[in-house]
Amino acid sequence: DLAPLKRALISVSDKTGLIDLAKALAARKVELVSTGGTARALREAGLAVQDVSELTGFPEMMDGRVKTLHPGVHGGLLALRNDEAHVGAMVAHGIKAIDLLVVNLYPFEATVARGADYAEAIENIDIGGPAMIRAAAKNHDFVTVVTDPEDYMPLLSELDAQDGKTRLTFRRKQAQRAYARTAAYDAAVSTWMAGAIDDAAPRRRAFAGTLAQTLRYGENPHQGAAFYRDGSDRPGVASATQHQGKELSYNNINDTDAAFELVSEFLPSDGPACAIIKHANPCGVARGATLAEAYSRAYDCDRTSAFGGIIALNMKLDLDTARAITGIFTEVVIAPAADQAAIDHFATKKNLRLLTTKGLANPGLGGLAFKQVSGGFLVQDRDNGMIGLNDLKVVTKRAPTDAELADLLFAWKVAKHVKSNAIVYVKDGATVGVGAGQMSRVDSTRIAARKAQDMAEVLGLDAAPTKGSVVASDAFFPFADGLLSAAAAGARAIIQPGGSMRDDEVIAAADEAGLAMVFTGQRHFRH
Ligand code: 5GP
Repeated sequence: DLAPLKRALISVSDKTGLIDLAKALAARKVELVSTGGTARALREAGLAVQDVSELTGFPEMMDGRVKTLHPGVHGGLLALRNDEAHVGAMVAHGIKAIDLLVVNLYPFEATVARGADYAEAIENIDIGGPAMIRAAAKNHDFVTVVTDPEDYMPLLSELDAQDGKTRLTFRRKQAQRAYARTAAYDAAVSTWMAGAIDDAAPRRRAFAGTLAQTLRYGENPHQGAAFYRDGSDRPGVASATQHQGKELSYNNINDTDAAFELVSEFLPSDGPACAIIKHANPCGVARGATLAEAYSRAYDCDRTSAFGGIIALNMKLDLDTARAITGIFTEVVIAPAADQAAIDHFATKKNLRLLTTKGLANPGLGGLAFKQVSGGFLVQDRDNGMIGLNDLKVVTKRAPTDAELADLLFAWKVAKHVKSNAIVYVKDGATVGVGAGQMSRVDSTRIAARKAQDMAEVLGLDAAPTKGSVVASDAFFPFADGLLSAAAAGARAIIQPGGSMRDDEVIAAADEAGLAMVFTGQRHFRH
């Protein structure tokens, strides 16, 4: 059992809660030692504090680069109090034991987030702070370490409950948190440097995130979960403002992200667009003359699946659209902005969450994407591939009409956001059938057509909506069967990457069926 805390070293950049903590420690007869700015703040509050230079016998120097890097500090943090030789060394060199270390680091993440230049970022890499944190955490058998103002209250409660001491369980937990902090700090430095030296390659990188929120549960209720932010300013679910409704769940966050990334493919300058997502796949995506029309056309792709879905809009949510949306149960709506009238209308729907972002996400922007496998992570560049009219190669005798071309590009953008194998039927700027996540491409083609047929009955149409449609396939057709199945459903034009060993066969089948087909040369697998 340790004695009550006798000496604390406090060195903090974020001075939140500092004075209250120091007063509470002083009231417990804990001696305070501090670095320059911290000591000044404590003295101004009338507290007695010793300068760290008294421990080191050196002034703080080199613009603060060297303040605490000295055996007078590190010996006091690292010495084993139950080891004769260690204690002997302390006595021999006049080193004082430090029982509590309170440090928070130079605000490196915040400094680079506000766009500081290279030199300023470098100067904000804390060296002595992490060194002390790691030393104190290593020696948690004897030393308590605190790296976050949020832990000040728990520390004081612990001291109250334990007669001015801390329990080993408490110190261990603090040590674990301390290493999480220094690891994330260095990862943030490495991530920033990768950007600064323009090496975005997903190799030899450290990855950092800050805990945004612990979630009630994960994909299933028996799984714990949390949400981390990576510090990027990309508009999206992580940085959105939530106007109402209960906390987002793990699945909500995942689906809202899918919805917003998809709708961000459609520039507002090209008109209103809406995407409805279920289980991370779109069950309807459409343009419209108005946003409300875009929503209702998206809804008409697959009304059954849209129930309880997540809706993303590429423009400011207006009252008309809000009214249309509340016609059925929806989990989340995300949009770049919302009219007050729309916000007021939603207020009556307690279970509907409304999120607004700062603009749309740029689908062409780089970045990294992660996937976990047993024993590791897979890291790759985000799929930011985008193609335009000039990238298309017509491979059939018949070239697509202008109207077909517009729909082909629309379908292609949607297919990029559908789990493979992805088949997307589109007519007049709206999906009419989506086949997702099948192990065979021909099955996706058939499922999408069958769902469209079901909708024909719901909507009271004479013909399946796939009649006269165009089709996007996220990867090449390995055989002609998928293409023939799409033709049988009434498709008139196809967009696909090409590149199959049997391209010739597939092109011949398209010609035979009178289809127009274009190759993109780019694939969009998504798993
Ligand atoms: P203060 O505001 O007290 O002058 O400085 C507090 C900050 O200095 C803390 O964020 C702490 O991590 C950092 N710090 C403490 N010792 C050293 C050191 O030796 N070198 C550097 N670069 N930073 C230090």
